[in-house]
Amino acid sequence: MKKNNIIYVIGHKQPDTDSICASIAYAHYLKQKGKNAIAVKSGEINPETKYVLDYFKVQEPETLTDAAEKTMILLDHNEKNQSPDNIDKAEIIEVIDHHKIVFGCPDPIYFHSEPIGSTSTIIAKKYFNDQSVKLDKNIAGILLSAILSDTVIFKSPTTTKEDIEIAKKLAEIAEIKNIEEFGIEMKKTKASLKRMSAEDIIFSDFKTYEFGKTKFGGGQVEVIDFNEVNERKQELLEKIEEIAKKENYDLLILMATDIIKKDSLLLFFEKDSYIEKAFSKKPENNTLYLEGVMSRKKQIIPPLAKLFSKK
Ligand code: MN
Ligand code: MN
Repeated sequence: MKKNNIIYVIGHKQPDTDSICASIAYAHYLKQKGKNAIAVKSGEINPETKYVLDYFKVQEPETLTDAAEKTMILLDHNEKNQSPDNIDKAEIIEVIDHHKIVFGCPDPIYFHSEPIGSTSTIIAKKYFNDQSVKLDKNIAGILLSAILSDTVIFKSPTTTKEDIEIAKKLAEIAEIKNIEEFGIEMKKTKASLKRMSAEDIIFSDFKTYEFGKTKFGGGQVEVIDFNEVNERKQELLEKIEEIAKKENYDLLILMATDIIKKDSLLLFFEKDSYIEKAFSKKPENNTLYLEGVMSRKKQIIPPLAKLFSKK
């Protein structure tokens, strides 16, 4: 490990509640194990995360945008384009994640991946399985919030039995009596697009993926009513096309997910008819409605990855 011995624990760019809360909780865990760990973030937090940190009176992490010469632990992602800049000049000692595995590293490291609803579920299990560390009420609260955020209050198909069990244990410690109610209050803070620009909406939870030579970008927003998106459809489609052309994306999607209906609406720009091929459904005016689709990771990326791998 590098001289100064500080271990930076960080989630992905355009951080969500899971990335931020898992980082805070894991740094807190490592500190109790005698490590000099601090949580950092790789971008501004979203309104939902702010609500959670305020609610449980937990301090927001500092921002770290340049990882050069730093000792890092990556949480909630394992694709280097989702890490801070100069990640190739950092020493990565550990990865904990629940996404598809892309990571490569010439050195042996700790790599912990589980097909589970959130990274925070894995961090919570570390606490529960280790009698030597204490789980404070506020840390339990933010871990619970992150599970509810990533699993869309247990509605997302990524939710496992274990996520629900762990969330219940956390809720007891955090003294949250009604998990559903708390989750909806938390989600509401993020669900209004009214005050956001088209660009903010597209990039609020955005990830870039590379499949061979194909560059694909996908943003996701949660809404309580599709009217919010439909009213601004033309504006959003124009912005998507503009960004795609400027940044050279082969495919750029905005996925709007109605968390009550559990359906998604895709607005997109594409250089070829990828969407129709991947989802076997004909889009209209660069728009596709997908029933029962809530998870970018489980229901959008895999069919596209399969299609692009055939190219
Ligand atoms: Mn995440
Ligand atoms: Mn996550």
